[in-house]
Amino acid sequence: MAKFKNIIEFIRTLYGGQEFVPLHEPRFLGNEKKYVQECIDSTFVSSVGAFVDGFERQVAEFTGSKYAVATVNGTAALHVALLLVGVERDDEVITQPLTFIATCNAISYIGAHPVFVDVDKETLGLSPQKLKQFLSQNTEVVNGQCINKTTKRKIKAVVPMHTFGFPAKIDELMSVCSEYNLSVVEDAAESLGSYYKRKHTGTFGLLGAFSFNGNKIITTGGGGMIVTDDEALAKKAKHMTTTAKIPHAWEYDHDMSGYNYRLPNLNAALGSAQMELLPEYLSKKNKLARDYQNYFEDSEIDFFEFGEEGRPNHWLNAVVLDSLEERNKFLEETNSQGIMTRPVWKLMNRLEIFKKAQTGNLENAVWLEERIVNIPSSVIMD
Ligand SMILES: *Cc1c(COP(=O)(O)O)cnc(C)c1O
Repeated sequence: MAKFKNIIEFIRTLYGGQEFVPLHEPRFLGNEKKYVQECIDSTFVSSVGAFVDGFERQVAEFTGSKYAVATVNGTAALHVALLLVGVERDDEVITQPLTFIATCNAISYIGAHPVFVDVDKETLGLSPQKLKQFLSQNTEVVNGQCINKTTKRKIKAVVPMHTFGFPAKIDELMSVCSEYNLSVVEDAAESLGSYYKRKHTGTFGLLGAFSFNGNKIITTGGGGMIVTDDEALAKKAKHMTTTAKIPHAWEYDHDMSGYNYRLPNLNAALGSAQMELLPEYLSKKNKLARDYQNYFEDSEIDFFEFGEEGRPNHWLNAVVLDSLEERNKFLEETNSQGIMTRPVWKLMNRLEIFKKAQTGNLENAVWLEERIVNIPSSVIMD
């Protein structure tokens, strides 16, 4: 027992001696109350209002994306993005097994099937080499359409996820996907403020999806965003997320079964204030990651570090334990001492609902699943 006493003390000290240190809590330090108050005073708290447009512009500008369409949450953003690239019932979508269930839920909502390809150990994101290997062994392109030779289904899209804000090797993934005519939808839910080779994550693929859930780097309470450089897709995204209503002064006319996925103005007001704070949060998170890095240099535990080619947002810091046994000891000891730590998700292919899903060789994901633990990462204010 007490093997991890020093690290527990170190983390508690970072967070000012707090008895309980959560994994990640939101911080409201700017104009949040002001904007929410303004929103209430205006009576436009719901599906119409200026804060939504403003919030969309802020995210587009920050990410360097031409268009941004706010949604009610990140899962809805992914769902609509997949529909927009043409995913239909009984199609297949390739993604990574090491992800949060929301990625796969968006695929399932359409009646499509996830196919799981391994991640890289250095990025925790979908592996371009493993993807290329899987595609060359299992698929053929017929009349421009990638077909899975085993299942005979169409593979319509690839969804890489930027795990904990660490960018996947997205430029290499893009070139593999273009070889096979596959659309890329980036699950950038965790990576607002993360860059790969100086370009913002979520802006490489045809579409990207962000989340503003309460545990993410900034929050709108609940919320999401679709980003794209394609004007037609952006217009369709807006249309589909707002009940597919044909604009008219008073008539109700809808040209498809749309979704009520629009972000309420009240949430957007919160988001606008949070976006103003994002640069400061990013620099504070970078400092925290450096402090952890320095600490773990003299420790037996490996701190997960990212290479030169990207600039992560350091949303969640992670350590890599030696084995499943060590991981479990670490989880038990830290959590029993009020330091909240969490293992990485159970691999998607091991969930009952995806037991029959096709997978590539998942050696890296299996290795990581047994060892990765997230440690407290909330923004620390001076
Ligand atoms: C948070 C998250 C989402 C979206 O979650 P919502 O709660 O619907 O906003 C999607 N994918 C990943 C990997 C996430 O972490």
